[in-house]
Amino acid sequence: MNFLIVGAGFTGAVIARELAQHGHQITVIDQRSHIAGNCHTLRDENTGIMEHVYGPHIFHTSDELVWKYINKFGEFVPYINRVKTTYNNEVYSLPINLHTINQFYKKSLCTRQIS
Ligand SMILES: Cc1cc2nc3c(=O)[nH]c(=O)nc-3n(C[C@H](O)[C@H](O)[C@H](O)COP(=O)(O)OP(=O)(O)OC[C@H]3O[C@@H](n4cnc5c(N)ncnc54)[C@H](O)[C@@H]3O)c2cc1C
Repeated sequence: MNFLIVGAGFTGAVIARELAQHGHQITVIDQRSHIAGNCHTLRDENTGIMEHVYGPHIFHTSDELVWKYINKFGEFVPYINRVKTTYNNEVYSLPINLHTINQFYKKSLCTRQIS
């Protein structure tokens, strides 16, 4: 059979591939000029840094089946989320926690003292 898949994001790509592997003829179209939908990324020409154009940045799943499937198509880089910000030449961790408050106000408060 012939199928027209509208949308080249994860959903369209997975459906297209599964149908193609079962012998169907597939055409995938997208209103955008690139594949991957909202998970599309770009490489900055000067720095080589990956830009997450629409927001998504971490692939996460607790589903073993999904993890095994996705690993057939690429390698994943381990990722640790460590967000920092600067204020008045000091570096602070985000999201704000007790350590951030102590660092900012030059205190050594414990949890009981701020609740
Ligand atoms: C801000 C933000 C942050 C996110 N962060 C993460 C993250 O860190 N990790 C994660 O796993 N997920 C994240 N997500 C979710 C992730 O983006 C989606 O789960 C994933 O993109 C869904 O894929 P999809 O193929 O269903 O839809 P989409 O990625 O939206 O793809 C749909 C495609 O269909 C096209 N399309 C739609 N209508 C038409 C039409 N009429 N004609 C032609 N083309 C059409 C669109 O142009 C688009 O390319 C985030 C989402 C957002 C918005």
